[in-house]
Amino acid sequence: MRIPDEMLSARLYGPRDMRVERVPRPTDPGPDETLLQVTVTSICGSDLHWYTDGGIGETRIESPLVVGHEFAGVVAEIGENARDGFDNPLSVGQRVAVDPAMPCHRCEYCEKGHPNLCRRLHFCGTFPDDGSLSEFMIVPARTCFPLPDELTNLEGAMMEPLGIGIHAVRLAEINIAESVAVLGSGPIGLFIIALAKLAGASPIIATDLHPWRLEMAKLYGADLVFDGNEDPVQSIRAATGDRGVDVVFEAAFGNETVYQSAQVAGLGARVVLIGITEKNSFALPASTSRRKGLTIKMSRRMKHTYPTAMKLALERKIDLNTMVTHRFPLADADRAFALNAAYENNMVKAVIESALVS
Ligand SMILES: [Zn+2]
Ligand SMILES: [Zn+2]
Repeated sequence: MRIPDEMLSARLYGPRDMRVERVPRPTDPGPDETLLQVTVTSICGSDLHWYTDGGIGETRIESPLVVGHEFAGVVAEIGENARDGFDNPLSVGQRVAVDPAMPCHRCEYCEKGHPNLCRRLHFCGTFPDDGSLSEFMIVPARTCFPLPDELTNLEGAMMEPLGIGIHAVRLAEINIAESVAVLGSGPIGLFIIALAKLAGASPIIATDLHPWRLEMAKLYGADLVFDGNEDPVQSIRAATGDRGVDVVFEAAFGNETVYQSAQVAGLGARVVLIGITEKNSFALPASTSRRKGLTIKMSRRMKHTYPTAMKLALERKIDLNTMVTHRFPLADADRAFALNAAYENNMVKAVIESALVS
């Protein structure tokens, strides 16, 4: 393959200012690195935070940033000793799903088994590290997981949000027949619904502000769905005989859904918070949370979940495609983000195709 010297790249200059530009292509992957031709990137809620606010929490854009961290690509060039996430040699032409996180594997937290909390973590699409909304990028070989023939590039990109769901569900330690509420039925919420079902939860109750997402929640395995605009706390309490649920997942962006988490939780319940709130703070009902003896866990990214995600995908235990409602070419990245941020057109998950490689 002859690789062009220039490429298209979608760069975010500030809030709602994304420009698709022609830029020099990155060259010469170093040792343990690979040059990747990006095929598909799916848009994540956290990308939307970058897009609408120009940052997340205390991290802000200081110069143009390429977002995108849920992606797959084809290996175009390899550096010396490039070994993949399974510790096998990588080769040119291989299709791969890429874990956007590159922990140092050396610090105290990595050594203690918390690579997701690594002090020196690099993460694609989080300032100052560029993400995947370009035609080419250089990534550490170790973050590449070769895609079996049975999985498409799009399914490869979905390993990332599925991995986030796996990590959150593992944190909850669900037992068979425990009741679960999932507040927010976006892509992460939908994966959590499907994974909670696999883990044996019953019933699974989902909420969302958008009716089309509630329909999607049913497709992904929710037993009951409630409109988040119409007192979901009352609905969930009524559905559980005023007992509340054993496990709550907050997978929305809302301050109110965090508050609701404690209200719909039962005594001794576990609450896992995954969504990134709009403001850099949230509230919980203090006495309710305390009296119920809640265990509250904050979910931070994931821990080496790609092999598990890929196994579930290969065994067709998880539907990776139904939630993908929109596709755009890289040249239309700005429009894709604007539509997604406005929750228009019955959108659940949008993907951006950088290259037409099947
Ligand atoms: Zn994501
Ligand atoms: Zn580390």
